[in-house]
Amino acid sequence: MPLAEKKLIEQIRRSARGGESVVRGIGDDCAVLRVPSGHELLVTTDFTLEKVHFRRDWHRPELVGRRCLTRGLSDIAAMGGEPRAAFLSLAVPGDVPQKWVNRFLKGLLDLAEEFKVPLAGGDTAQSASGIQADIVVVGSVPKGKAVLRSGAKAGEGIYVTGELGGSAAALARLAEAKPVGAESLRHLWRFSGQSRRLGVPQARVAVGQWLRQHKVATAMIDLSDGLSTDLDHICQESHVGAEIEAEAIPRARVGTGKKRVALELALHGGDDYELLFTSSAAVPNRVAGVRVTRIGHTTSSAGMRLIGLDGKKHRLQAGGWEHFKRSL
Ligand code: ADP
Ligand code: MG
Repeated sequence: MPLAEKKLIEQIRRSARGGESVVRGIGDDCAVLRVPSGHELLVTTDFTLEKVHFRRDWHRPELVGRRCLTRGLSDIAAMGGEPRAAFLSLAVPGDVPQKWVNRFLKGLLDLAEEFKVPLAGGDTAQSASGIQADIVVVGSVPKGKAVLRSGAKAGEGIYVTGELGGSAAALARLAEAKPVGAESLRHLWRFSGQSRRLGVPQARVAVGQWLRQHKVATAMIDLSDGLSTDLDHICQESHVGAEIEAEAIPRARVGTGKKRVALELALHGGDDYELLFTSSAAVPNRVAGVRVTRIGHTTSSAGMRLIGLDGKKHRLQAGGWEHFKRSL
């Protein structure tokens, strides 16, 4: 049984830290935020839902909390912005132990501390079914400088940070260890969660800012739904096509043998929270300590193509996660 609403808010209030952007945080009707002059606001909101994005019997609560905030921070990173404050709306059913809530909040607040992003408000309610968390992250970016999905031109390089497919591989391993129906697996494809050993995805905030400040990225998106789906978003918004090489895609290494994950997972698996961007400039192979890899280029002809491991050109379809698309 979770703490009563008032007590829970008191507890969150005690553990949340302030920050320079927060004039008034938890405890009033609204938070009051200070925006640096000459900046515009960035606002993003993301659900984390039990049985859609995580399972209580699979995922450690700290990881669920951490992942909840990562989703918001990653969206700010993809605009080249600076996160300023986070807001958490949390609905918990009456039968969830307070210990789960405490551990969830610890994961979230530890990450908030790492990124120096204050939790400045939210809402707390009892849920009729399942744990539901909605994170709002407010950020800022100098006026007119946000890196949009629509800025790519034909003939630019396509780049990704880090390595891909690690989260999808972790989910596949969890599913092997704890067999579930195909239905639950499809639900959870979107939010795999990783074991401690595999490491946890990191929002690439410093990389996103560097790419904006140095005018390197022309278009940018964070990889939440999978490379094929998120690249398609850039293509659609920028009115370009894309050609990428399977060989060039940096695939995550997993397991004791450090084997590379299957190409399918790196292409279509979600929840890696790496950045995907286009550029016509010289791009260093490390930015803010994170590896950056060129995986292809944009084209004037629409659609996506993949040069496969067989060296042949294939049509590439968006194959990542899309809610409501699959029959459940
Ligand atoms: P109201 O009824 O005006 O919405 P609440 O009693 O819901 O006020 O909230 C009181 C304060 O606690 C507000 O500042 C709100 O932003 C904050 N708050 C409520 N729930 C959360 C939460 N889950 N995380 C962070 N802050 C919260
Ligand atoms: Mg409220």
